[in-house]
Amino acid sequence: MLYKKLSELTDEERNKLVGRGGGDLADVGETVAAILKDVKHNGDSALREYTKKFDGADIEAIEVSKEEIDEAAKSVDPELLANLEFAAANIRKFHEAQMPQRIWFIEVSPGIELGQKFTALESVGAYVPGGRASYPSTALMTIVPAKVAGVKNVVMCTPPGKDGKVNPLTLAAAKVAGADHVYKIGGVQAVAGMAYGTDTVMKVDKIVGPGNVFVTSAKMQVRDMAEIDFPAGPSEVLIIADDSCNARMAASDMIAQAEHDPNAVSVIVTTSEKLAEAVKVEVLKQAKETLRTEIVNTSLENAAVLVADSMEECIVFSNEFAPEHLEIMVEDEDAVLEGIEHAGSIFVGNYAPVPVGDYASGTNHVLPTAGYARLYSGLNLAHFMKSASIQRISKQGLETLKDPVISLAEKEGLQGHADSVRTRFE
Ligand code: NAD
Repeated sequence: MLYKKLSELTDEERNKLVGRGGGDLADVGETVAAILKDVKHNGDSALREYTKKFDGADIEAIEVSKEEIDEAAKSVDPELLANLEFAAANIRKFHEAQMPQRIWFIEVSPGIELGQKFTALESVGAYVPGGRASYPSTALMTIVPAKVAGVKNVVMCTPPGKDGKVNPLTLAAAKVAGADHVYKIGGVQAVAGMAYGTDTVMKVDKIVGPGNVFVTSAKMQVRDMAEIDFPAGPSEVLIIADDSCNARMAASDMIAQAEHDPNAVSVIVTTSEKLAEAVKVEVLKQAKETLRTEIVNTSLENAAVLVADSMEECIVFSNEFAPEHLEIMVEDEDAVLEGIEHAGSIFVGNYAPVPVGDYASGTNHVLPTAGYARLYSGLNLAHFMKSASIQRISKQGLETLKDPVISLAEKEGLQGHADSVRTRFE
């Protein structure tokens, strides 16, 4: 774990933090391309072959039957099921609040009404990771918003365990969220299946959901066949803190990110040297006590405790880092929030740790990583919808547009365009 004054970071250290993740994607590009091609040409048999190779599972049926899903849901502890339903309800509420007016108009001048019509995508594939851990919560985060948007066909892919079965809680979550089909395939092969379609797997218009570097690379490579949400890879948190922050709380939030993946990144940037010292000690202490020690210790090699000279410096660094998760644990929360330009999801205050957004508060946990928060928004209702612009124009309205349109069209040498307006006044 790096411990340094922010102003004393070498270029190499700063680039490693800010440019995290990019190299990993490039490293796996060719391997991923070969698997994509194989699935494109050999369909279901390639899906079975890669499931054997990467997940160690012999699968005959690729789709999980409705009966299996129902049975899995019944086998789940009722309290856990109730908690899934609680989380799903909050996610539904937050995403319903994002619903745009399905159709709207404004009159820009007499007789000229312009507007938009929003419709849902027809089919969406939700990738739910399942390699190192299982993520029933991701089934909720990807499927619930799709269904709120009105997507007709929502399919889910997740890798099976060695016994060829999907984690029952993930299946229960798929049911609670309303998935239409569930396939027990993961990794690159799942992305390929959903992008190209096979005899069993439905081809979808868009693929959403997080995954490891192989899944992320696969999503980036199938964009000619299916739209994707954004690169959502190994998790990361950046914490901006001052003296008011509790070191144990901040350290436990860093450990919580670190346990996701060996490539996860946990960083705290603070104006308080005292806090920085205490966080360093706490992180190392908690790393020994945590269950996933091996993953945590590996990912803590990417971690950093950075001391800044001012809150302004923290904010500038945070915007450069563009974290997936940003925690703000400072006295003047609003001032920091105001300065934030790039972050996937923002957690304000000492009582808003990232795990509440991971599971149950209702915000979405599928978020851009590796600095992609500079370009992309986290998963939200708009990812499942598209809009058409509309114009409704009367003869009086066209009258005001007639001369500019005819003159511009003629200047571009498009006589037909000019005549299409002119004929309406003959
Ligand atoms: P995963 O489902 O993404 O990956 C497992 C699959 O990877 C396997 O089924 C296999 O097909 C493939 N694979 C493994 N090794 C391979 C190899 N050598 N070549 C080709 N394919 C290979 O599950 P995971 O590995 O546990 O990763 C989940 C990731 O999702 C973690 O990094 C976690 O941090 C991240 N995550 C991100 C978000 C987010 O919103 N950004 C949310 C939840 C989880």
